[in-house]
Amino acid sequence: MRDNDNVIIKPPFTEEMKKEYTILIPDMLSFHFDLVVGVMAQHGYRMEVLKTSHRNIVEEGLKSVHNDTCYPALLVIGQFIDALKSGNYDINKTALLITQTGGGCRASNYIYLLRKALEKNGFGHIPVLSLNFSGLEKEYSVPLSFKMVVKLIFAIIYADFIMGVYNQCLPYEQNPGESLRLVKEWNARLLSQMSGPSFVRAKKNYKAILRDFAAIKRVKSDKIRVGIVGEIYLKFSPLGNNGLEDYLVSEGAEVINSGLLDFIMYCVYNNIYDKKLYGKGGLGYAANCLAMRYLKARRREMIAAIKGHGEFAPPSDFSKVISAAGDYLDHGVKMGEGWLLTAEMLELIHSGCNNIVSAQPFGCLPNHIVAKGMIRKIKDRYPDSNIVAVDYDPGASRINQENRLRLMLANAKLNGERREETATQKETGTAEVAV
Ligand code: SF4
Repeated sequence: MRDNDNVIIKPPFTEEMKKEYTILIPDMLSFHFDLVVGVMAQHGYRMEVLKTSHRNIVEEGLKSVHNDTCYPALLVIGQFIDALKSGNYDINKTALLITQTGGGCRASNYIYLLRKALEKNGFGHIPVLSLNFSGLEKEYSVPLSFKMVVKLIFAIIYADFIMGVYNQCLPYEQNPGESLRLVKEWNARLLSQMSGPSFVRAKKNYKAILRDFAAIKRVKSDKIRVGIVGEIYLKFSPLGNNGLEDYLVSEGAEVINSGLLDFIMYCVYNNIYDKKLYGKGGLGYAANCLAMRYLKARRREMIAAIKGHGEFAPPSDFSKVISAAGDYLDHGVKMGEGWLLTAEMLELIHSGCNNIVSAQPFGCLPNHIVAKGMIRKIKDRYPDSNIVAVDYDPGASRINQENRLRLMLANAKLNGERREETATQKETGTAEVAV
């Protein structure tokens, strides 16, 4: 549907539609989206996360967007079109929801590509909603009350917390499926708390979550710890990264994945940094400073709880992540994952995890620079680091991706053996003496 100036007409999503419409969300962060969908349901929105993963999603993406569009955009749009064509949804009672980061890359602009793709496929009447905190698409955004924002922030924090301990239990569990069962139980408990008047019981919940996960029977064994960094969609979405986490765990690794809160704090920090770059002050600056202080305090609470319990490794303090980038990139490098991606690789190394996978999407110049572009420099300073960049695109072969991952794991094993050998030699005094 286009107006007289040939501009696509954006169908609105009205208050009445809330009662009858199903709002579809693309797959990305299963831990987080399950809680987010639950919170939105408490406020009258019926949402559904698409969990499809078949090849037709890529085909629909290729048909519906230009072939130089970055891979995450192609998948998100392909997944929506595939769902609408599947016959599983009443296309007159379905809306779509997409996030906008507010940054300079396509993550703010998928929404326009999506509307064009909908029109092309005969779905131009379907409303598209935006979820963003940057004031974009005001008339087409999900209206968020203060209470909803606080609940959504807590949903993200809890999901990060649970994801962190889950990743540390899953590879060691004696009874397969126990960690996932606990995730589901806790999601239900947290959502029921959040539906009541007092939903902010984080410290108490952290303790109980840690107690429950620590009670899972685990095998004592040394696993190779592997950190995942990369473009935000590929880092988390099993559809985007061909089930990267599952694959690493199946190959005997323990996965470390920094949470979504890091990315949110990165976005907030960038707004604050704009004052230094462009002199942008005023109310927006003050609000971002306040938000940063609040989020850092929540992160510190989380770290204190995990350290206090003593059995699991906590996430990094975000101030450390900020300063890790300092020697490598200016904080003004903020397209895509910007300085955060480099900082996350460094923070993993600083915390003792030298094995890193960087998930690289096709068509993403910003992350190409801050990931692949920085790996050489990081390796020069940290020769023990074992970083592999894996490319994801519509034609990439899974076998090639898995071969690169296997090579990284083999190097990790070799490095571990060498370290052990050196340690034993030092202990027994049998180290070779250079002549
Ligand atoms: S970061 Fe890269 S892949 Fe992600 S939306 Fe931006 S350009 Fe696309």
